[in-house]
Amino acid sequence: MQFPAQERFGDGAQFIAGRLTHGTSGATHAVVDPATGTDVFTYELAGTEDVDAAVAAAREAFPAWAGGTPAERSDALHRFAARLADRADELARAESLQCGKPLKLTREFDVPGTIDNTAFFAGAARHLQGQSAGEYSGDHTSYVRREAIGVVGSIAPWNYPLQMAAWKILPAIAAGNTIVLKPAELTPLTSLLFAEAATEAGIPDGVVNIVTGTGRVAGEHLVGHPDVAMTSFTGSTAVGKRVAEVATATVKRLHLELGGKAPFVVFDDADVEAAANGAVAGALINTGQDCTAATRAYVQRPLYEAFVERTAALMETVRLGDPFAPGTDLGPLISHAQRDRVAGFVDRARAYARVVTGGEAPGGDLAKGAYYRPTLVVDAPQDSEIVQAEIFGPVLVVLPFDTDEEGIRLANDTPYGLAASAWSRDVYRANRATREIKAGCVWINDHIPIISEMPHGGAKQSGFGKDMSMYSFEEYTQIKHVMFDNTAVARKDWHRTVFGDR
Ligand code: NAD
Repeated sequence: MQFPAQERFGDGAQFIAGRLTHGTSGATHAVVDPATGTDVFTYELAGTEDVDAAVAAAREAFPAWAGGTPAERSDALHRFAARLADRADELARAESLQCGKPLKLTREFDVPGTIDNTAFFAGAARHLQGQSAGEYSGDHTSYVRREAIGVVGSIAPWNYPLQMAAWKILPAIAAGNTIVLKPAELTPLTSLLFAEAATEAGIPDGVVNIVTGTGRVAGEHLVGHPDVAMTSFTGSTAVGKRVAEVATATVKRLHLELGGKAPFVVFDDADVEAAANGAVAGALINTGQDCTAATRAYVQRPLYEAFVERTAALMETVRLGDPFAPGTDLGPLISHAQRDRVAGFVDRARAYARVVTGGEAPGGDLAKGAYYRPTLVVDAPQDSEIVQAEIFGPVLVVLPFDTDEEGIRLANDTPYGLAASAWSRDVYRANRATREIKAGCVWINDHIPIISEMPHGGAKQSGFGKDMSMYSFEEYTQIKHVMFDNTAVARKDWHRTVFGDR
């Protein structure tokens, strides 16, 4: 075991009002290292009482935190970024342990991305902007206040636990809200470390709270809680629909970042080597457990054979292994259940499609982990399960197309719309793809990179709302119109519409 989780969180896995406590649900959960199948941390799951305590702590902390100046919140977030940088190695190891991510991924992507996000929102805290004040009616001066909303309840998935915690917590607290975050029960460790670092940075107790429990118990209780003003959720589309139903009962503001099935459209003038490299990296990042992963490559007929051949050959060079070993490219899936789910999609596809490479779990030393080989599937019909459903594993399907219109139509032909990429050296073709593909993000000649300044979020059934960027910061505020009378007369002209004449 490379991260001493049991020892580190001996006081429990609920972080409420600045300290760790044990959950009171009466049920426990074991965090499993998916690379070995061994338990690394067993904790008491949160019950509804723990959620109530966390919401109460957030409610109590809200007036002082929201009442502080933007500069005070910004300073606290800068200190937070520095504290995270001090603890970068611990964070990377904990994330690799609970998720099975290669250490090079957590060290070079998850952790630096989180620190950069923290620094971005430290800056954003001082840059909230709005419409200028003005005399729009002639008799009044109007202006807009952007205010913190209150207690935010957030729910995060297991695929990028640290980054998802950051994407939810940072814009919320930068804008003056307080928050209760429920990470996925499989991956609580780095959300807890993140909250601890916030406290060490001087962010007051109760501003950031973590409840680690199941979706059904802790999640639904948080979403339905009358003292929670906003729900921000990242997870599957199916659970997102349930969250929306529960949140409606108390008319909460909703932010839903849901599933994806990103298309990867290669036009016939593209650099096929660049596209094949991009497809392998885009499909396999985080073992394919990435909501924006390249999952459906549509390749224009003249490049199709070369693309399939090159992509399959590259996939076979990817080194599966121990997440903590220096030569490892790809770790296991999050759990054996997820590995079996992915294998099920591929096995069912054999009835109607061809598996070019992969399609099996490796043996030998890796047999005890939740590993699955990088898999390339061809000859699947557009309406088949493997093309339409979110698999969330290292599986890429490649399909040919003839005209540009057909490529774009097929790219748009799923219920999802989170991300997409188009590959071409023709600026007009590429620009058309950016306009016509329905997705929250379209990359040209790349697939996956994200940056703190730019929004991340979906279209269609991938949800609504944005993470990162000023757009997300603004979503965690509410707009209030303030209107001052300028006439100082007791009987206003407009009163005649209700009583008397002019
Ligand atoms: P999931 O939907 O199963 O679970 C997400 C979270 O919701 C977990 O914390 C879970 O405990 C909780 N939950 C489950 N049932 C609940 C309920 N009834 N009420 C309240 N909360 C409940 O998703 P997952 O398997 O953890 O993560 C993978 C999914 O997340 C994929 O669909 C992926 O595309 C999506 N995702 C989306 C984005 C994005 O930005 N759009 C980013 C990352 C992951």
